[in-house]
Amino acid sequence: MKSDVIPPLHDFERIVFFTGAGLSAESGIPTYRGRGGIWNKYNYEDFACQRAFDRDPEKVWDFHDTRRERVAACEPNEGHRIIADVLRAKPDCIVVTQNIDGLHQRAGVDGSRVIELHGSLWRVRCDRDGVVVANEQVPINPRRCACGAYWRPDIVWFEDMLDGRVLERAGDALLKADAIVSIGTSGVVYPAADLPRIAVSKGAASFEINLEDTPVSHLYQHRLRMPASVALTQLLRPRQI
Ligand code: NAD
Repeated sequence: MKSDVIPPLHDFERIVFFTGAGLSAESGIPTYRGRGGIWNKYNYEDFACQRAFDRDPEKVWDFHDTRRERVAACEPNEGHRIIADVLRAKPDCIVVTQNIDGLHQRAGVDGSRVIELHGSLWRVRCDRDGVVVANEQVPINPRRCACGAYWRPDIVWFEDMLDGRVLERAGDALLKADAIVSIGTSGVVYPAADLPRIAVSKGAASFEINLEDTPVSHLYQHRLRMPASVALTQLLRPRQI
């Protein structure tokens, strides 16, 4: 049920920040959907699925090198910094993110407290044997592993399955949460979009931060229709009596 009295986040200890592309929009990274969204401009079937990579790995790497270059030139914004501050102060809070940009970590969150549902632009995986390594080169060079096969970005592309262990970790965190704060996600990418429901069904307080309503808005008690950094600043204010 929607409620108008918004409790401050200080009231909670096991907050899950469930973040999407809208959180990084204020850093200058385009979202997937909506105005300026990258899939309005590019066809994912040419750039972001295993079939495209098998067909033309160089073309897919050119696209991802451009994305790496763009993200490397951006900085974490106030929203990322506020989340990092809360995690520093509260040891049982965690981030579950659909983002692949690494900005939570660059804002100071330890990697062990960021569950990356869709992988990371900053890791690569051997396309033959699946070995995963960190790689922050822009552009990546060489594009092939020592075994001769191509590296591929260790991200969940369209038509890929999510890593079961990562999903399980996210599910565990949501089961234990006393608050879920969803930030800047359109709620249309499954199975990620279903995860907040786990916390809500266990009675966690629920907040949705987005510029607009989403197909899952009805799940949330508190809906803040404003940019992520503005909403997070409001949620961190002491309770007004
Ligand atoms: P999306 O692009 O589908 O939706 C973005 C949402 O954020 C929209 O609902 C929009 O209204 C909202 N939004 C835009 N600006 C905002 C702001 N300043 N404050 C608050 N909300 C804002 O994003 P999604 O739901 O995360 O999409 C899913 C896929 O996009 C994921 O798989 C993710 O891997 C990928 N993606 C990641 C990045 C990134 O890592 N930064 C960028 C683009 C896409």
